[in-house]
Amino acid sequence: MLALAAAGMGYRVHIFAPEDELPAGDVAAEVTRAAYDDNAALDAFAGVVDVVTYEFENVPVAAIERLARRVPVRPGGNALDIAQDRLSEKRFIESLGGHPAPYRTVDTLADLTAALVEIGPRAVLKTRRMGYDGKGQARIGPGDDPAAAWAAIGERAAIVEGLVAFDGEFSVILARSHDGATVVYDVPHNRHEGGILDVSAVPAPDFIARHAAEAVALTRTVAQALDYVGVLTIEFFATPAGPVFNEMASRVHNSGHWTIEGARVSQFENHIRAVCGLPLGPTTLTAPKVRMQNLLGDAVHDWAAVLADPGAHLHLYGKSEVKPGRKMGHVTWL
Ligand code: AMP
Repeated sequence: MLALAAAGMGYRVHIFAPEDELPAGDVAAEVTRAAYDDNAALDAFAGVVDVVTYEFENVPVAAIERLARRVPVRPGGNALDIAQDRLSEKRFIESLGGHPAPYRTVDTLADLTAALVEIGPRAVLKTRRMGYDGKGQARIGPGDDPAAAWAAIGERAAIVEGLVAFDGEFSVILARSHDGATVVYDVPHNRHEGGILDVSAVPAPDFIARHAAEAVALTRTVAQALDYVGVLTIEFFATPAGPVFNEMASRVHNSGHWTIEGARVSQFENHIRAVCGLPLGPTTLTAPKVRMQNLLGDAVHDWAAVLADPGAHLHLYGKSEVKPGRKMGHVTWL
């Protein structure tokens, strides 16, 4: 989606990725298929591009830093470095006045058992690194054996968070340009199934919208602290006590996919504009209501019904293999 937005503005996109199957490569001018630690490939890539961005949170920071010595990388590796480790992410957010769920660091089963006494028996154990879409997570309830959760996440360095009794979930999607100007999208109300985003809708209902100003202010502070360039997303839980920080992503976000048709300028185009040093575009809605539904796993087979609906915009990502919970595409209704 970034490559499509860039191509529409006359840019030639060069994808660097290790995977055999590259949906972005299908719509880009050039592809380098190489490992993130292939220094020769990284150097060759840096030699032929004008600017680099990334849209996957598990790109090794070392690869980004190597590229950044030869070519501008936006956003910088500093944001990626923080966002890759749930512990450093939460500490960073707290240092800027944000409020994550109560959490403890877990390096051993004994740490986990002790933490549950302090934060309560309802909790989520999450690996510090390499988790996304509910992967690397285990829920814990009263009476559960902590050892089972510890085994389920592979006994890896983790944090355990208290389960937040939220009214709903939402995200702030902000774009910041090299000169510090920012634009923000309407906050979407996000619903997850099994830790995976299912639906994002704007405008958000009141019980979410009343937390937007505080959450946007924190997101602006984060972007400024990182001297961030590009789209930054922060996910929040709406609670009676205010917005609780959940997670930060230094990239365009699934909860902003609705902006392709639902906003005057999409998150993808604004990210490309920011990265390329162009002025940002307006984020205003193009319809009174916008709703994005992910096509997870087998739901992708419903494409014919989606196309029969004149109000629906179908997006398929060109992934060849359907797996349960895999994001195969999405539909947006205006
Ligand atoms: P994450 O990958 O950390 O964003 O978690 C994925 C989803 O799991 C979230 O969007 C929530 O729906 C749920 N979740 C994660 N952590 C918590 C928590 N501490 N309390 C309640 N729900 C959570």
